[in-house]
Amino acid sequence: MESDNKKGFATKAIHQGLKYRDQTGSVIPPIYATSTFAAGNSEGFDYTRSGNPNFKNLEAVLASLEHAEHACVFANGVAAITAIVSSLHQGALVLAEENLYGSTYRLFEQVFKKFGLEVKYLDFSDSSKFSVIEETKPALVWLESPTNPLLKIVDIEKISSIAKKVASAVVVDNTFASSFFQCPLKLGATLSLLSTTKYVNGHSDCLGGVVCTSDASWQAKMTFAQKALGLNPSPFDTWLIARGAKTLELRMKKHEENALELAKYLEVLPCVSFVRYPFLVSHPQYELAKRQMSGGSGMLSLEFKFSLEKTRDFLNQLKLFTLAESLGGVESLVCHPATMTHASVPKAVREAVGLSDALVRFSVGIEHVEDLIADISCALKAVGEA
Ligand SMILES: *Cc1c(COP(=O)(O)O)cnc(C)c1O
Repeated sequence: MESDNKKGFATKAIHQGLKYRDQTGSVIPPIYATSTFAAGNSEGFDYTRSGNPNFKNLEAVLASLEHAEHACVFANGVAAITAIVSSLHQGALVLAEENLYGSTYRLFEQVFKKFGLEVKYLDFSDSSKFSVIEETKPALVWLESPTNPLLKIVDIEKISSIAKKVASAVVVDNTFASSFFQCPLKLGATLSLLSTTKYVNGHSDCLGGVVCTSDASWQAKMTFAQKALGLNPSPFDTWLIARGAKTLELRMKKHEENALELAKYLEVLPCVSFVRYPFLVSHPQYELAKRQMSGGSGMLSLEFKFSLEKTRDFLNQLKLFTLAESLGGVESLVCHPATMTHASVPKAVREAVGLSDALVRFSVGIEHVEDLIADISCALKAVGEA
């Protein structure tokens, strides 16, 4: 995949992936809305389930941004996870971070375990647990950093170097940090996975997923899964995501600026017990976050000193923050894990991992930050907090 990794992030985001522009002079490649291709074409396309010019363009962009030799695009993040896990053998062991994205956990527990996958969960923010990698020699180590919704940071470089000794592959779900703030492959990971539905597309108008790697045998497994399991995206969605990627750097800088300012405002409110944001000095892994990420990204979580009811009342008073699942769009969203993303997790289990009823997660958008602060302040006044 041709890419010039000496160029800056935004230059690569804008200039990679512009093949197939034909003779018309169109600055942006068209949407190749076709299911099939005439046999014998020079690019070797045959059927869109196994490849399409719009997929190839997006793959060139994302591989370049992730410092990877290869990328393979999928219909959504869950399809990208499916591609990786489906390539394992029966009885394979996955050692996974315990604070996983809910749909990843569901896929492990309710789908792949039926086919003989074994999954063990660990708190990877605790380095005393790293020895389990050498003891169990898993097929895969599955990491997320920052995690959802507690924004825990795990040491990707350290874990990858230990995994390498026992030939275990390391997957990092890079969705929350985005390719702009974190590069898992440079830290030693084998695979970097993103739900491009989130920051890469950035406009909340389609779903997508990608797996990036510099390991040719893993790339072959990904392209096989794309076609054999029917995990491919649509040409239109990949076109939209490639468009979104062009402004990723600009957006991420603004997401970060807004999130940090909001985090500082929230942290000193008397009704807040704690704020978690990777680049707040009070974050338990602040030093590690600073080392491994070039910015804190746009996600922050906090715990109110409120009951479940009062937390819900507060959320219903917000005007600019829409109460919704998902994240990473230009518009601000707010999520209540206890009744939304993690509602299926039993209350006792939720509380054991720190997900209380008063925990709230913000996906801070790129609006004018004073307006976001005013929105929260008005909602607090409406529920009787000055
Ligand atoms: C959203 C998300 C996914 C799943 O992606 P979809 O595009 O919704 O299928 C996986 N991991 C993380 C961290 C996510 O936020």
